[in-house]
Amino acid sequence: MIEYRNLRIALLGAGSVGAQVADQILNHGDELAARIGAGIELVGVAVRDLKGKRDAVIPANLLTTDAEKLVRKADIVVELMGGIEPARTLVLAAINAGADIVTANKALLAHHGPEIFAAAAQVGAQVYYEAAVGGAIPIIRPLRESLAGDRVTRILGIVNGTTNFILDRIDTMGESMEDSLATAQQLGYAESDPTADVEGFDAAQKVSILASLAFHTHVPVDSVYREGITSVTREQIQAARKAGYVVKLLAICERVVGANGVEGVSARVYPAMVPLDHPLAAVHGANNAVFVQAEAAGSLMFYGAGAGGLETSSAVLGDLVSAARRHVVGGPGLAESTHATFPILPISEIRTRYHISLEVTDASGVLADIAASFAAHGVSVESVEQKVLGTNGEAPTATLVVGTHEATEADLAATVTALAASPVVERVVSVLRVEGL
Ligand code: NAP
Repeated sequence: MIEYRNLRIALLGAGSVGAQVADQILNHGDELAARIGAGIELVGVAVRDLKGKRDAVIPANLLTTDAEKLVRKADIVVELMGGIEPARTLVLAAINAGADIVTANKALLAHHGPEIFAAAAQVGAQVYYEAAVGGAIPIIRPLRESLAGDRVTRILGIVNGTTNFILDRIDTMGESMEDSLATAQQLGYAESDPTADVEGFDAAQKVSILASLAFHTHVPVDSVYREGITSVTREQIQAARKAGYVVKLLAICERVVGANGVEGVSARVYPAMVPLDHPLAAVHGANNAVFVQAEAAGSLMFYGAGAGGLETSSAVLGDLVSAARRHVVGGPGLAESTHATFPILPISEIRTRYHISLEVTDASGVLADIAASFAAHGVSVESVEQKVLGTNGEAPTATLVVGTHEATEADLAATVTALAASPVVERVVSVLRVEGL
């Protein structure tokens, strides 16, 4: 048997994930080598601060601040520094120097994926990124390989652990949004600036990656419709539970027929009500899950830890073994598949169901007025629940919770505008989408 030379691995970053990856390579390199069919050697670890505290013992002679030099002497570059620059420049330099790439960097791929994949395709390099969505959960490889012969129709994902943790605490412990965010920050689930998580930017990057893979079409992150969880209230979450639902921040992508009858792709992130018997309703704490529907396979659910240095290192090392094995057996890397070029549909054309909570004047004829507003905009009402609330000055008021059949976002928005202007409506209390029915 031919002995393959040692493969040179360069690590960019030794933070939460990078330190765990370095630890595994340094301490379990023999086992990885046996799986790869060749030895592996960590040739360097690029960091910002050579004296920084690390979660793993990394020999001082491996640490360097010269990442540019490091990427030019590696067979495989594992990028775990995060952010766009200098990660983008370093990854492109590594590809052009003949290296394969393993990265966990969702921001880089969501914003510069096509540029990186094109550079890799030109030289036959591979780009692996299992850890970029869902941390430890295998979802990229299933979409890229296992489901490559099927047609994915829809993905519903809980891909941001921070927001799931916050919404879950409000739901199960009755905490306020502020308190559960503070707890998430204390436990290290949320950053001191939580904007990327709570405003849905992180989930939007991930759904852009999932949608591009699932529908063989580049779905730019800027085309993802995004709403975060900051406007969700404890009252909405409690009312949803009473009605048999739980509120989750969902990353959704699907193939749908748009207003002009042409099939396209929708990618969106928003908080939505999910029925309690849906598998996603059972995703608690900071866990992630991705629910995939495909024409032949039916429904599949991928569940587990969406973050954490050690957990995420599992996905990174799996990619490292795959990339290294190809060096041993040869052949070109797996190219990205974007043959489908579906149009990306605007949110206004998307159809879903809604629960609308209204505070109304409690008088005869009100229900008929409200029903007329829905009908005038082509939104069909499925259920109405009425509770007497109290009084507004002299007039008694009631709360109406209206559940709709599927309607377009445009029709629903027009209905809500009309309801807000109606003399019988005191206040539009809440509008939440319903998904997963
Ligand atoms: P992190 O803890 O902030 O670590 C970043 C590392 O990169 C640090 O070691 C830092 O060096 C180094 N670094 C940053 N900029 C650098 C530069 N310009 N030159 C050289 N080194 C630089 O990040 P992380 O949490 O491990 O995340 C790494 C990647 O994994 C990100 O893309 C993230 O989105 C992704 N990811 C993370 C998780 C998770 O649970 N943490 C889960 C899934 C995916 P110093 O240590 O010297 O500052």
